[in-house]
Amino acid sequence: MLPVDPIEKHFRLTPQQQAALRRLAIETVHDLLYHFPVRYESVNESSTVSALAVGNKVTLYGTLSGLKAKKLWKSRRPATEGWFEDASGKVKVMWFNQPYIARMAPQGTMVKLTGSVSGGSKPYITNPEVEVLTGEIPDSLFTSPTEKEDTPVIFPVYPETQGITSRWFYHAFKRVHDGGVLEHLEDPLPESLRTRYHLPDIHSALLALHAPQSTRSAEAARKRFSFEEIFVIQLHKQQERARNATQHAFEIDVDEARIKKFIALLPFPLTGAQERAVKEILTDFEKLHPMARLLEGDVGSGKTAVAAITAYAAVTSRPKGRVSGTLQVAYMAPTEILATQHFQSFIEFFKELPINIALITGSGCYKYPSKIDREKPTTISRSQLLKWIKSGEIAMLVGTHALVQKTVAFEHLAYVIVDEQHRFGTAQRRALARKGDSAPHFLSMSATPIPRTLALTMYGDLDLSVLDELPKGRAGVTTKIISKEKRASAYEAIREELKKGRQAYVICPRIDEPDPEKALALIAKSAKAEAKRLQQDVFPEFSVGLMHGKLKPQDKDAVMKAFSEGSTNVLVSTSVVEVGVNVPNATVIAIEGAERFGLAQLHQLRGRVLRSSHEAFCFLLPETTGEYSRARLQALEKTRDGFALAEEDLKLRGAGDLYGANQWGVSDLGMDALKNPRLIEAARNAAQETIAHDPELTKHPLLKTAVAGRVHELHEE
Ligand code: ADP
Ligand code: MG
Repeated sequence: MLPVDPIEKHFRLTPQQQAALRRLAIETVHDLLYHFPVRYESVNESSTVSALAVGNKVTLYGTLSGLKAKKLWKSRRPATEGWFEDASGKVKVMWFNQPYIARMAPQGTMVKLTGSVSGGSKPYITNPEVEVLTGEIPDSLFTSPTEKEDTPVIFPVYPETQGITSRWFYHAFKRVHDGGVLEHLEDPLPESLRTRYHLPDIHSALLALHAPQSTRSAEAARKRFSFEEIFVIQLHKQQERARNATQHAFEIDVDEARIKKFIALLPFPLTGAQERAVKEILTDFEKLHPMARLLEGDVGSGKTAVAAITAYAAVTSRPKGRVSGTLQVAYMAPTEILATQHFQSFIEFFKELPINIALITGSGCYKYPSKIDREKPTTISRSQLLKWIKSGEIAMLVGTHALVQKTVAFEHLAYVIVDEQHRFGTAQRRALARKGDSAPHFLSMSATPIPRTLALTMYGDLDLSVLDELPKGRAGVTTKIISKEKRASAYEAIREELKKGRQAYVICPRIDEPDPEKALALIAKSAKAEAKRLQQDVFPEFSVGLMHGKLKPQDKDAVMKAFSEGSTNVLVSTSVVEVGVNVPNATVIAIEGAERFGLAQLHQLRGRVLRSSHEAFCFLLPETTGEYSRARLQALEKTRDGFALAEEDLKLRGAGDLYGANQWGVSDLGMDALKNPRLIEAARNAAQETIAHDPELTKHPLLKTAVAGRVHELHEE
């Protein structure tokens, strides 16, 4: 048996198992080895029927009886009902949409049942997984009989998938192990590193993960793989750093007097943090190599001004050896709405300058100033704009992703600013620098508060500037948890604001009404239904709009336009308004099902009402009352510092939950590592050392391959 062998070569699979493996992208024996358990269960710790608590996920050992297929009364959808029994008692079990369970599930034989407990005073278990236990209850695979007595009996639980059980993986691993496959695997982690950080080698680590003898050895193995993952990401980032240092930058003329004059013309004095960030960037401009910097600052901390001042330095610089023209700046925003807003801001910032500013988005192109009216922008054709960008006549180009398309070529692109695009990787950066021998300076801006460990990992190739100070004179935001009984008071507070001519957001966790059968526990408010209800029953005298991710782009724009113009008073929305929408007149945000969002996300949402000088309100309307969710929401009541909240979130919820559908391309295991600053630091140092000695990893072919795979996974190519 070899790691590259397809699974089918060694395992007879049912069609369900085949489908399940396909879903898990497991094709080879090697893939199988790298399909890691999510946790371990101890037989001793498994629950009993008498100890069931609603909301818990449990594993029970016992027997099934009385299984009956039936049709649900309202929807006529198939379901199965029956009983599960162990020595301590009986509990009802139900499956939805699985009419065959009644026929397939073994009754009377010992099974392992895993599922979530629902219900109230009478608990029941919905859609549990059932595994038949042949022989004895599983124990650790390779323990010798003598060891068995005093080692705790734990076994791995793999990510849930229909059609394939943890038990299958468990035995598959044993087969693979016995087939001698581990001997064929080479360890990508150099021995020196393993020794230094006390990490098990690849063989013992895989064995300890899939067939642990103790929780401790499984933990050590997990740690090894999280280290490896972070290390590989860091290698990639450090390589990028090293590559960046071999490129030449455009020479931007950092004339202090000229820049000071520009700053003096701004309608506000800079905050200390803005001054520091500007200085750091301007210092980078004077270096030989292009800047690669992240500007992190909470919503409203004034990142745009920092971008404008530093862009000013570029658009007032002559290209080297030229007697006319200016260097070019590109500013990329995440949405059309934001791009348009920034286009207008930059016109305002640079209106005294003799330069052209342009906007490029999927739906059209604009140029400022217009030939006819020097005060106004005008629409122009895309092809005309592209010509002017190429000839260097457009000094400042604002846009969405449309800006990085191959057809957009610049003459002297000296500075690229990217707002809230975590995925804008080094490859895209290089694509922009496509021509010539000089590379643009790069500034990535982010208001997404992330824990320091995640920043160090994902932005390991960037230097960091932080805006940790908000402009003075901003009115604060009052954040309040509103219990179910007090809901009316929140609506009254919203009405007061609306009467003053201000606007409100109401955020809902979902778009549509939940399927009443599928989601017994999910009673989250839907944006659609809530918009209707608020319009009819709560705010009939005002206009209520609806926004969600499934709207067509042009409908989204229309909805946002109506809201920013003030013709819609209340905007009911899913969390899509999160990123950067700027409606200064909106002063209240009510968040339904607040406990469903991460703290960082709630904080982002709250940022929507921090745009004006008016006192703002954020109402958190949780659906459930739990100690745990209350503690999280209270953290939000207490602090306004997004980065502190991100750390808190990491502590309370764990990284996996935090960042949604894994937008960072990091596995749950890697995410675990983020809770461990020392591990992150170690992986970073190790990567720095490795790259310093071997920048292209020619002496570490396995690491080189791993990095290449990683880059692919991070979707950077
Ligand atoms: P963000 O960092 O979220 O992008 P913006 O750049 O949009 O923040 O700035 C938010 C608001 O604060 C804008 O209206 C901007 O004009 C204003 N602003 C920026 N810097 C200052 C400052 N130093 N003093 C007062 N207001 C400022
Ligand atoms: Mg911004």
